[in-house]
Amino acid sequence: MALRRIPVPETIELADDGARIVLTWPGGKVTEHSALDLRRGCPCAVCVDEMTGKQLLDPARVPPDLRARHYSRVGRYAIQFSWSDGHSTGIYPYATLYVNREENET
Ligand SMILES: [Zn+2]
Repeated sequence: MALRRIPVPETIELADDGARIVLTWPGGKVTEHSALDLRRGCPCAVCVDEMTGKQLLDPARVPPDLRARHYSRVGRYAIQFSWSDGHSTGIYPYATLYVNREENET
């Protein structure tokens, strides 16, 4: 099965002082993502056991007022965020952010 080409967001905005991440995709679709939800679901090797897929991060330990401070694009496939709790090793593929849009819509 051929993978569909994953869109690359045209703009990445840190809204509400970084509490929300707003992505604008080609064609004008906009998705919103909670910084707290993204941080709690951090896929990096510190937060998720690479061998078992078990989450090592206790989501309850993520500060509820967590913000995204900075972001950088990783190639043409992902975004990396620097969070206000000092964590920054998670890489969030565009594919995941794009597919997860429905559950972030209000
Ligand atoms: Zn992490």
